[in-house]
Amino acid sequence: MNASGLSSDQVKLQARVRELAAGPIARRAAEIDRTEQYPWDNVDLLKEAGLIGMTIPPQYGGQGRDWLDAVLAIEALSATCAVTGRIAVETNMGAISAVMAYGSEDQKKMAAAMVLAGDKPAICITEPDAGSDANGMTTRADRKGNRYVVNGRKHWITGGGVSRLHLIFAKVHDEKGAFEGIGGFLAIRDETKGLKITKREPTMGLRGIPEAVIDFEDMDVPPSALVIPPRGLKKGFADLMNAYNSQRVGAATVALGIAEGAYQLALDWSEKRRQFGRPINEFQGLQWKLADMSIKLSAAQALIYKAARSGEGGFPDMLLAAQAKVFTSENAIQVVNDALQFFGARGYSRELPLERMARDVRMFTIGGGTAEVLRNVVAGALLGKKLPQTRNGWNSRA
Ligand SMILES: Cc1cc2nc3c(=O)[nH]c(=O)nc-3n(C[C@H](O)[C@H](O)[C@H](O)COP(=O)(O)OP(=O)(O)OC[C@H]3O[C@@H](n4cnc5c(N)ncnc54)[C@H](O)[C@@H]3O)c2cc1C
Repeated sequence: MNASGLSSDQVKLQARVRELAAGPIARRAAEIDRTEQYPWDNVDLLKEAGLIGMTIPPQYGGQGRDWLDAVLAIEALSATCAVTGRIAVETNMGAISAVMAYGSEDQKKMAAAMVLAGDKPAICITEPDAGSDANGMTTRADRKGNRYVVNGRKHWITGGGVSRLHLIFAKVHDEKGAFEGIGGFLAIRDETKGLKITKREPTMGLRGIPEAVIDFEDMDVPPSALVIPPRGLKKGFADLMNAYNSQRVGAATVALGIAEGAYQLALDWSEKRRQFGRPINEFQGLQWKLADMSIKLSAAQALIYKAARSGEGGFPDMLLAAQAKVFTSENAIQVVNDALQFFGARGYSRELPLERMARDVRMFTIGGGTAEVLRNVVAGALLGKKLPQTRNGWNSRA
């Protein structure tokens, strides 16, 4: 065990991924940002290094590793390329973990095979009129004989256009039109009729992964496409969102990795850069800044590792995952911003990675639950109460 309580196997994993991140992954990062192309070559590198499907159980071809192992890989990758870090999140956490926990045998086999072959599944929850208020979604699935017909629009779907497997959330209605609950349907782009990628969002950062609008126009799926958690359709959305706690920990880890990468650059530069005849790290104003940055990073890392460890044998705890994501996402933005400041004008240049890191890290207080909404989650858990946000105290039903 080392200071962070990591096993020798985890320390080795960390060292191996850091080497990969500092080599071929780092060399491609700026180009991925500039060209906005999904890095399929990095997907191959992740596959070769065994960093995809780490959390998938061995009987489905994965490695059955802990969340913390995936976190260590994501953290190291994100220090040089956040896009590659995010790919590692979504091939180890989120939609794939929901299917592995709650899917049928056939669904598990299919999803595991697709991910292990390099597909990054897409999770489709957010809609133009239903963001933080996911219960207000209007995408619906209507039972028609032996099929479901899905209609609606999702937006800001990570991987839209490159992902093949999609987990799509919709309000399920029975044959008579009665509402049964929110369900998750599996569909495959270019195979499932009626799933259309209609627009790519022009994003501020994280440009190597497309964010897309996806339309479902009479998308036709069999009932076997529905992922039904143990508590059934009525309460199933809460179960499926429980799986999302792993993705939240993963997202926090990407933010941490970016900030750690930026901090390291600032630390090194502070020794090299000389002004007034001395290295700039001899100025107390910058020494204290470095101290504050390192304190924020250590605290964020401790929260993330704790949340990851809480998920052994299940999913990370909702409260711990939310605390980790709020704290890390907000502090990582500050750390990257401070790191950029160390470089003066150079920090503002696209020839250095700081400006890319500042754009990339900005996302993490938004995607996967905003910092505000996650504070509601934290408060609700502390108070042991549901904290409905609608005026009438009920879930919204658009
Ligand atoms: C890069 C990126 C990738 C994404 N990937 C995906 C994806 O793969 N799949 C997917 O389904 N979605 C994805 N999203 C969408 C993301 O989950 C939503 O953006 C997020 O849930 C917030 O919804 P919204 O953007 O509609 O903001 P809104 O819900 O409109 O919120 C606007 C503002 O109001 C605040 N607010 C809202 N309600 C409350 C409240 N009750 N209390 C306090 N403040 C509140 C919010 O915090 C925010 O500051 C992604 C977003 C981004 C930026």
